[in-house]
Amino acid sequence: MSVEHAAVQRADFDQVMVPNYAPAAFIPVRGQGSRVWDQGGRELVDFAGGIAVNTLGHAHPALVKALTEQANALWHVSNVFTNEPALRLAKKLVDATFAERVFFCNSGAEANEAAFKLARRVAHDRFGPEKYEIIAASNSFHGRTLFTVSVGGQPKYSDGFGPKIQGITHVPYNDLEALKAALSDKTCAVVLEPIQGEGGVLPAERAYLEGARALCDAHDALLVFDEVQTGMGRTGSLFAYQHYGVTPDILSSAKSLGGGFPIGAMLTTDALAKHLAVGTHGTTYGGNPLACAVAEAVIDVINTPEALDGVKARSEQFMQRLRQIGERYGLFSEVRGLGLLIGCVLSDAWKGKAKDVLNAAEKEALMILQASPDVVRFAPSLVIEQADIEEGLARFERAVAKLTQ
Ligand SMILES: *Cc1c(COP(=O)(O)O)cnc(C)c1O
Repeated sequence: MSVEHAAVQRADFDQVMVPNYAPAAFIPVRGQGSRVWDQGGRELVDFAGGIAVNTLGHAHPALVKALTEQANALWHVSNVFTNEPALRLAKKLVDATFAERVFFCNSGAEANEAAFKLARRVAHDRFGPEKYEIIAASNSFHGRTLFTVSVGGQPKYSDGFGPKIQGITHVPYNDLEALKAALSDKTCAVVLEPIQGEGGVLPAERAYLEGARALCDAHDALLVFDEVQTGMGRTGSLFAYQHYGVTPDILSSAKSLGGGFPIGAMLTTDALAKHLAVGTHGTTYGGNPLACAVAEAVIDVINTPEALDGVKARSEQFMQRLRQIGERYGLFSEVRGLGLLIGCVLSDAWKGKAKDVLNAAEKEALMILQASPDVVRFAPSLVIEQADIEEGLARFERAVAKLTQ
């Protein structure tokens, strides 16, 4: 039995929504695995994964079960009380990572906000008020709150909103000498994405992250990894830091963590966590039982050798086929990334035209992403079926063939 809803269309978006997004012309209404159906019943293959969120595709039975069971038990109690799903999820994250302590919130921006505030608080408590500078990479992305856009090195997101958060310096990514020159004893933290996601799916070099770790240690600065996009199996390791073998002091997670249910987490050590004493930070919804129950189901499925090896196998298949398509049609200069976070860098002739590639894919009933105007991005479900990979790549080739004709 379904509830009667008033009919709505894409055109309504332009009437009732703040115009900060430009959504596609169709409205998805249902998803199953890596297939999505729109209002008109058209079936699409989903290689976008809700921007690296839908780790287990749509309507995965384990997630539906976790959500409905929790929905029948307890939705929300606030942090005046703790709850069982939050404690279970925190234990699993602690067991699976370097971290000893977890702070839950609702998004990537909030996880980073907590990370940056913790880094400043630790430096303040240990070394006094002069040590507050944060060094981040140009062209990075850490979210849309004022602190996180200030740390993200993209003026188009941070300018025009009045004074920014002070004490933030940007250096070119993957340039260890530049990082070395920027660090001082006033630096409280270095903030890096192990792979720059929004900035164009640009992986860090291992030596860069190792060098950053050593520089932070030498200057009593904390190393913060923003793994909002790279975490929870996306790269074929549970977190990308494990792939690189470089351990941060603070790590932020969100996106894939909830598999489609909003949740964020900041992970850190005992010694650092104690600086966020009672009352220093918080959020009403953080650790919400519904969100944590779903995330627990996500980690149960993803943090297994079979699932993580599956990411690597799927990755090879994607990369190989995308390189082939790129060469055949002269579209890409490079296919890069790790695991199932893949970026196809457009060749000179197609520079700035990622949106055209997205539109062409949509005409073939394929959902993909861009990462900057120069890179076509793929962030599909980590358990995407073989048949969906093949069908989606066939649709992609058709789109590219027509576009480049
Ligand atoms: C998406 C993203 C964020 C922001 O997450 P929200 O949930 O949109 O606030 C932060 N950092 C990285 C690396 C991201 O990819």
